[in-house]
Amino acid sequence: MAVENLRYRYADGSEALRGISFVVEPGERVALIGPNGAGKSTLLLHLNGLLPERPAELSAVQICGALVMPENFSKVRKNVGLLFQDPDDQLFCPTVFEDVAFGPRQLGVEGDALNAKVAAALAQVGLAGYENRLPHHLSRGEKRRVCLAGVLVCEPAVLALDEPTTDLDPRGRRELKLLLRRLPAAQLIATHDLELVVENCTRAILLDRGTVIAEGPPTALLADEQLMLAHGLERPHILQHLQHQHRHD
Ligand code: ADP
Repeated sequence: MAVENLRYRYADGSEALRGISFVVEPGERVALIGPNGAGKSTLLLHLNGLLPERPAELSAVQICGALVMPENFSKVRKNVGLLFQDPDDQLFCPTVFEDVAFGPRQLGVEGDALNAKVAAALAQVGLAGYENRLPHHLSRGEKRRVCLAGVLVCEPAVLALDEPTTDLDPRGRRELKLLLRRLPAAQLIATHDLELVVENCTRAILLDRGTVIAEGPPTALLADEQLMLAHGLERPHILQHLQHQHRHD
């Protein structure tokens, strides 16, 4: 995945992205951190062309070698699994089964093969047997897991995850982190969960006001207290634990 000088202004004139550039290599897990309004969600929506762009900006994002532009949308969307920040924006079917089955159906999977894929994806997110449940009756955490199942079921090469651990209980967070570490997909994860950043990601990108402020190994970036505070974040407690551990090793 490559993003080059991506700029985006919403219709009301607010400038959300002011020239963002970075690359995520296949299999790499990169965290996108930054305060509210930094542009994280806007950036993720660009990865599969969900925001209308002006022609000059069409070539700013490349996924698996294809530019994100209308003629490539079907190829791009096969390769990118996007988890929306709000599960209610993602779930639109009457049952959990139909929601998770939507992606594979688009790819022509039907019958027993489809049932097996949906069952496996639900089991992956800890929701085995939820096929006949109604999405709008689920808790926020369960909804988020269903959305994730709907993304994972297509086995995309690139995962773009917006706040994947929000609403999850501690066990759910632990299991999700383990699951994400095992997946071969390249991952770009927008999150305020600094434990997720430290435990799962090989690199972190700090975004503020639509620009990349800093980039580097998560522990180095997050340990810089001044930098964190200047951009509405904090130095996570988990780093203290890690440093204590190193001292005792
Ligand atoms: P983050 O995900 O880092 O919190 P966002 O990408 O949601 O940041 O927002 C980036 C900027 O774009 C903010 O200033 C926000 O107010 C603005 N913004 C987001 N969505 C819209 C929208 N639909 N219309 C106008 N402005 C928006």
